[in-house]
Amino acid sequence: MEKLQNFIDGKFTSPKNGGYFDNYEPGTGKVYSLIPDSDSEDVELAVKAAEKAFPIWSSMSLEERSKILVKISEGIEKRMDEFVAAESRDNGKPLHLAAQVDIPRSVSNFHFFATAILHFASESHYMEGTGINYTTRKPIGLVGCISPWNLPLYLFSWKIAPALAAGNCVLAKPSEITPYTAFLLGKIAQEAGLPDGVLNIIHGTGPKAGDAIVRHPKIKAISFTGGTQTGAYISQATAPMFKKLSLELGGKNANIIFADCDFDDMLSTTIRSSFSNQGQICLCGSRIFIERAIYTKFRDAFVAKIIKTKVSFPTDPEAKLGAIVSESHLQKILSYIELAKEEGGTILAGGNRVKLSAPYDEGYYLEPTIIEGLDYACRTNQEEIFGPVVTITPFDSEEEVLMMANSTEYGLAATLWTSDLKRAHRLADKLQTGIVWVNDWLVRDLRTPFGGVKSSGVGREGGWEALRFFTEAKNIFIKY
Ligand code: NDP
Repeated sequence: MEKLQNFIDGKFTSPKNGGYFDNYEPGTGKVYSLIPDSDSEDVELAVKAAEKAFPIWSSMSLEERSKILVKISEGIEKRMDEFVAAESRDNGKPLHLAAQVDIPRSVSNFHFFATAILHFASESHYMEGTGINYTTRKPIGLVGCISPWNLPLYLFSWKIAPALAAGNCVLAKPSEITPYTAFLLGKIAQEAGLPDGVLNIIHGTGPKAGDAIVRHPKIKAISFTGGTQTGAYISQATAPMFKKLSLELGGKNANIIFADCDFDDMLSTTIRSSFSNQGQICLCGSRIFIERAIYTKFRDAFVAKIIKTKVSFPTDPEAKLGAIVSESHLQKILSYIELAKEEGGTILAGGNRVKLSAPYDEGYYLEPTIIEGLDYACRTNQEEIFGPVVTITPFDSEEEVLMMANSTEYGLAATLWTSDLKRAHRLADKLQTGIVWVNDWLVRDLRTPFGGVKSSGVGREGGWEALRFFTEAKNIFIKY
């Protein structure tokens, strides 16, 4: 069975303790490779390599650094098919989704930050008659990047690319559930001529390998995407060391639909925003609020489409939904469907595990599920489920829907459907989220700030925000 390896100091290495654990293929439920069970010893080796590499990488000209990162982007693009197949197999997502979204976006993450760094400028502030301030922005040094399983390479590269572009050396850990494309990335980094020790990829569990990165005193900043609880744990662990933190955490996003929207456009986009990637995107709209005048029309049309949606194995070109990422996550989602019933919800579509024929009969498949009749304040409507499960709720006024939309502890993203421009501005302004899409969903411009408020996170990724996070500002004043 294939054994994945860590990528430390430019070389592929086994974990020091020799331990490995199983990597499951969600589509079949079978083990198909082994993951290094790395620990603090491996992190220590990577820290040493990164310390050695930092003076070389941080003093390299921007143009040289940029060229290497462009080569990484091109390297992934050249091996697109291999990356797409690996991502789909490792995560369970339909092959066509990995081909349209995950891997092309990973390519553009590297390309964007490779070129963005060439335009990244710092400020100067002139003080009439007194002097001038100028600000320098230098790389932090060693930084940790920890990412989740839902968009594996896409979110891994979303952190690594700006960290490297800004001149830092990186210790990165992908989720143990989806390590494969991160493993492939090491090969691309080698081929692109990235100096040894600049990027170190350490596989293993969160509590062992992840924790060792988080707690290492020489790693000065942590960029983390994952669950809110893990984010809270990382905040606590790093607070006494005053590490810089960027936390992209959970969500419970509202999708607000007014009667004056373009119905067909709204419906097809709402199907995507509810169930893409089996609903395992932090930006999916899991609470759908519909103005009462079109509630029945929407419900009937939505349910009619969803009951025909094909759930199938990832390589099936007709699969609209693939497999859930793991058996334990599938069980968690099913437990929320049971909770919704206990809370008085009616299942309008889905709700059941799907059994495919061999060799996919042990895979983790679930029907897309629509639930109505729940109170906005119940647990099903307040807690993150992170699967193909949405609730639908009617509303009568802007005030009411705003109150319901803002009622959760989360504040990542919201989607708003209306043709009334003034209303769009009014509500977008009042929604307590870091991102609002009006009449669309998941539109991505890499220059814009990305992140959430409340328990959805701290800080922003994307564009200058990411480059500012991965640099330390120093202000220098010169008297006239
Ligand atoms: P987790 O918080 O479980 O894990 C995220 C990463 O942190 C994984 O690499 C995990 O490793 C690692 N980790 C776990 N425990 C620790 C620890 N004690 N110290 C250091 N690292 C640790 O999240 P999931 O992987 O389950 O991802 C799903 C969550 O991510 C959802 O809540 C979702 O909303 C959120 N998310 C947020 C996004 C955003 O932009 N705001 C985008 C995408 C997802 P391992 O997997 O090996 O345990």
